[in-house]
Parts: sequence; structure tokens; C-alpha cells
Amino acid sequence: MVSFEEARRLVEQHAAGVCPGEMETVDLLAGLGRVLAEGILADRDFPPFDRATRDGYAVRAADLAKVPARLEVVGEVKAGDWPEPGVCSVGRGQAVGIMTGAPLPAGADAVVMVEHTSLGDAPAGKLVVEVRRSVIRGENFVPRGAEARTGQLLLDRGRRVDHAGIAIAASAGKSRVQVFRKPRVAVLSTGDEVVEIDATPGPAQIRNSNSYSLAAQVQNAGGEAVRLGIAPDERGRLRALIEEAWIGEGLQCDLLLLTGGVSMGKYDLVEQVFGELKAEFYFTGAEIRPGRPVVFGSCGAGALAHADGEVAANTRTGVSAPHKKYFFGLPGNPVSTMVTFELFARPMIEALAGMTPQRLIFLGARLKSEIRTKAGLKRFLPAVLSGEFENAEVELARWQGSGDIATLARANCYVVIPPDRERIEAREWVSLLMRCG
Ligand code: AMP
Ligand code: MG
Repeated sequence: MVSFEEARRLVEQHAAGVCPGEMETVDLLAGLGRVLAEGILADRDFPPFDRATRDGYAVRAADLAKVPARLEVVGEVKAGDWPEPGVCSVGRGQAVGIMTGAPLPAGADAVVMVEHTSLGDAPAGKLVVEVRRSVIRGENFVPRGAEARTGQLLLDRGRRVDHAGIAIAASAGKSRVQVFRKPRVAVLSTGDEVVEIDATPGPAQIRNSNSYSLAAQVQNAGGEAVRLGIAPDERGRLRALIEEAWIGEGLQCDLLLLTGGVSMGKYDLVEQVFGELKAEFYFTGAEIRPGRPVVFGSCGAGALAHADGEVAANTRTGVSAPHKKYFFGLPGNPVSTMVTFELFARPMIEALAGMTPQRLIFLGARLKSEIRTKAGLKRFLPAVLSGEFENAEVELARWQGSGDIATLARANCYVVIPPDRERIEAREWVSLLMRCG
């Protein structure tokens, strides 16, 4: 049994050593949520010209040292126009009308907002603008290349593409992007009482919700879930299914997630079967609740050779060699399964997907009503973060323990309580872990 922090450190340490799969090129929008296998470089300066950020007049700041000032309007540039130097430039005492997004004409060194100007009386054939405010050099435009220079890295390899990443790739002319193949994550539920979701459960049976919630979490973390069904609480069958997950024809999974069968019960056989398979365990239990019995380990595929001597093939290289694969034994209680996935399995999936490691970030909020609990374990209690504007507050969801998915579905975060606290007063500042997806 290790502390939460030590368990997380162990997962991060092992995750840092895994390799992502091969690469593929996909259409830009299909790259949403995928992990970049290439850096996105600026194909030109960003912005590609001195870009006005206000509607108004391109001016020389020195001409507006004293205001009000009168400037002769000698031209206009709208977005998309190119002000040819010599044809459209700003000389002393002159201004050029300019729109947001248009290039600054030669000679100008600032833009004065149209709100601070009015068109003045002028001799026939001339246009004069009266400016009421001074500007400083550089005001109201972004100089060419200020955001990025040609060839500069805009988005790193290993970044998961979100809508901002899509914008960057689009701006750099990338209609297709290179991403890593999604890791394949086998999901195996265990338990004699568990039946498939389209079956009619007997009086003591429950439907296999974990395989589905886990598959959803796997997808959300950037993996591809392969549901392997339900293993009974029987050693031989459990072992056969685990072996199939590793070396089964065509399965080629990169990680195995099991649920159930990791507690202290007589029929909790997962640890025992992995022991038979010569697994290496990094932790068997973490000081958390829910999720205390969580198990993390690895198995060399060599140890899983079939009776006929066949050895697993390395799914990444195709080389037939003993190859270490990680597994998590997650507790079967549905909320425990979900929490332990987020805390421990997610970083491993992200690493297998090629993502640069992410730290687990807790947010803070004020507690609405007092919490009393038992000390000794770090708690992740389903809670509802609510409030208006800047006045967020959080309250525990009234739940019936770690089997209560109905309450969890109403919650949107977990309040995190350190192991040394038994009582937390209303209005205290507490840590939160937001629920992903
Ligand atoms: P276990 O970790 O095997 O002791 O299971 C703990 C609790 O979770 C029991 O009440 C199980 O019935 C329930 N459970 C186990 N597996 C699943 C599953 N796949 N879907 C939903 N509930 C499950
Ligand atoms: Mg069980």
C-alpha cells in the first residue's frame, strides 16, 4: 500500500518510459483530440505584415505630440489591401484611413482609433482628419513576426490537438496533420454477478456498466478501447482472457485494464492470476478512497508464451520478442473504477498516445457546507461545483458509497480531502479535481 502521491509518481515514472505507436496523417479536423507526431511550424511570419488592431487612421506618432491636430488623409487601406509603398504611405502631417486587419502603410508608426477623430473642414479635393488624442509609437498594431517568425515552432509534437491547435494548424496552411496512432486499450470486466448490458439480469446479477464507462474514459483520454467482455471469478478462465488480451490474434493491445476482483474477497483473483503470470507489481493498493485496492503492474509478454511456445509479438515493431506491457487492476465498484482510471490509468494512456506528460491539476473552491469524514486515506468525494460568476462554491453530493453511479452522474467534480483531515468547516477553501468528459 502506497500513498496517493507515491502511486501517481510511480505511474508517471513508468509512463515516461513508454513509446507511442506509429504515425498516420489525417485531415485537419480528424486530428481533433489526437496527439501531434509533428511540430507545427510557422510557414510565414505571424502576423505576415504590421497588422492594424483598430479601425482608425495610420499616423506618425510624432505628428500627434500636440493635440488636437489636423492631418491630411491621403488614402485608405482595408483588410486584404496591400498599401504599395510610394503609392499609399504616410508622410509628415499625413494619415491613411485603416481598418482592423489591414497592413500598416509605410511611414506610419501607430494607429489612432476612429473614435478619437472627426473629419474636418478642408479645401476642395482634400480630406482632413482632426485627431483629439495622442498615440505612442507602436500603438494599435502588431508588428510583423511579433507572434512568431517563419520557421518558428507554433505547436509542439506531443500536444493533444484542441480547437486552438486546429486554429494554429489552419493558419499555418496544414490541411492534414501527422498524429500518433491511438493506443489500443483492452478492457476486461470480472465478476460472476456481472452480465452483458443487453441481457436480462437475474435477481442477484448486475449489468456490466464498467466496461462501457471505462471504454468512454479510454476514448476521452485519446485511446481506442477494445472491450473483451466479462471474465468469471474462476482462475483458469480469467487467466485465458488475460493472455488473450496480450497475445490474442489480431488484438494487439498496448495496455490492459481490468475491473473488479482486486479486493480481499475469496473470489478476488486478479492479483493471484497476475502472480502466476510472473507479473511485476508496482503497487497493490493506494491510500485513497474510493479506489483503495487499485493495482498497477506489468507483464513481460515472454512470460505469457502459449503452451506451444509461441511468444507475443511486439505490436509496435512487429518483432517477436518478450515485451513488457502494463496493466491496471481497477476496483469493481463503478465510482472507484472511474476515479482510479482518472488518477492512474489516464496518464499511461496519454503517454502511449504520444502525449507530453501532464501534471494532475487540482482547482480550488469554497466549501458550501461542513464535511466530516475519517482520517487515514486521501478522499475523492463526488461533489457539485456551482455558483454564479466569480462566486463558485462546492458541495458534496449525497452519495451511497462507491457503487452509486446515479449520484456520480449528477456530480461534476471530486472534492479532495487530505488523509489527515476529519472535519472541514463550511467556507473553507478545498481542492477539487474536475471530472473529465
Ligand atoms: P469487486 O471489486 O469485484 O469486489 O466488485 C465491487 C463491486 O462492484 C461489486 O458490488 C460488484 O458487483 C460491482 N462491479 C464489479 N464489476 C462491475 C462491472 N463490470 N459493472 C458494474 N459493477 C461492477
Ligand atoms: Mg468481483
